[in-house]
Amino acid sequence: MNAGDSEIVVSIMQQNGYIYTEDINQADIILINTCSIRDNAEQRIWGRLSAMRQIKKRKPSLIIGIIGCMAERLKEQLIEPQTGVDIVAGPDSYRTLPQLVRTAEAGERGINVELSKEETYAEIAPVRLDKNGVSAYIAIMRGCNNYCAYCVVPYTRGLERSRDPQTIVNEARILFENGYREVTLLGQNVNSYKCGEVGFPQLMEMVAQVSPQLRVRFATSHPKDISDDLLEVMARYENICKAIHLPAQSGSNEMLKKMNRKYTREWYLERVAAIHRYMPDCAITTDLIAGFCGETLEDHQQTLSLMQEVGYASAFMFKYSERPGTFSARHYADDIADEEKTRRLNEIIALQNSLSVVSNEAEIGLIREILVEGTSKRSEDQLCGRTSQNKMVVFDRGDHKAGDYVTVKITGCSSATLFGEEIK
Ligand code: SAH
Ligand code: SF4
Repeated sequence: MNAGDSEIVVSIMQQNGYIYTEDINQADIILINTCSIRDNAEQRIWGRLSAMRQIKKRKPSLIIGIIGCMAERLKEQLIEPQTGVDIVAGPDSYRTLPQLVRTAEAGERGINVELSKEETYAEIAPVRLDKNGVSAYIAIMRGCNNYCAYCVVPYTRGLERSRDPQTIVNEARILFENGYREVTLLGQNVNSYKCGEVGFPQLMEMVAQVSPQLRVRFATSHPKDISDDLLEVMARYENICKAIHLPAQSGSNEMLKKMNRKYTREWYLERVAAIHRYMPDCAITTDLIAGFCGETLEDHQQTLSLMQEVGYASAFMFKYSERPGTFSARHYADDIADEEKTRRLNEIIALQNSLSVVSNEAEIGLIREILVEGTSKRSEDQLCGRTSQNKMVVFDRGDHKAGDYVTVKITGCSSATLFGEEIK
């Protein structure tokens, strides 16, 4: 989401006459797009800021802005004299960045942390910063209304709102005409996309119809409302990728209830079964939190057993990090010691590593279509690209280039990558 937002920010700044640079020493303005989801994300930003202050010593006219969730969360606290920050802009105030820069240039504090019920940056054409030229993000909605007990997002990104579907389809079409071959539709809970009569399954269908040569992915699906209608559309279009990120967070009903996730383990497993009914070939990935408030060893075991039952292809795994102002910070004690959180997280990671190997080994011998993303990191003579299931495959270049579809037979794997041979 932040990668996508940065592309919108660059677009707004360019329209106002600024030029984007990746060379920090050339920059007159540095905008740091921040995340508040866990404390360590914010700690990294404080580290960055101290490096920026060193640059500012050499170049006093340098303007430093903190934008995104940390700006929204900490507001004025970020503009204290000792931080070196001149601008603070929350996720809904990017259109005002050029004004904020002028305010800062005049020696005043440029701050806008107003959240909006409507802002979707719908008609702003993002400047694509990720230059593989093959895959791009399209934000289809902003904000979140779910209020999971641990999560800061509804406070920093505001209420949920959906972007006009026609602007989404147009963006996909323009990307395709410019050589892109894959779009990922982004939202905190894409299943609740709703704009007039258009819900998420209809939107997926509209984007999939841009071209059979355009792959469509999405993130993220909340398990409580991933519908059969969506699964049916996914199964019907070959260019809709067979991969679903379905964050479970925990395998214990007790924890799910405390987390306010609004589904049970049984519901989750039924949705996984539904995915396999519609698409036997669909990869499922997840997010998991270790050591949430009051998590017992039995709860933790339930998470491990859920992982085994689903057999995730991969997972993002985190230690619970208390975020000020959230429901769990206000009502529950953060009572699992840090070493114990680490121990549980390590168990989860070790299990996932072995599940990832199982999932990769099951690919050996299969024929898969790869969308080439670029040259492999290991060798100039090899290319890498993904299967519909979102697994990275490395294979000999032949006469292919980024953006080509290549049919390969999977011949081997490591825990993170598959190896393949082209089938002509
Ligand atoms: N909207 C998405 C997730 C966005 S945040 C969804 O609901 O699926 C990405 C992930 O960060 C979450 O799925 C969760 O696993 C993790 N996360 C969120 N808040 C957290 C916290 N306070 N501590 C640890 N992990 C957290
Ligand atoms: Fe956070 Fe829950 Fe919203 Fe995801 S669905 S962004 S975890 S509140």
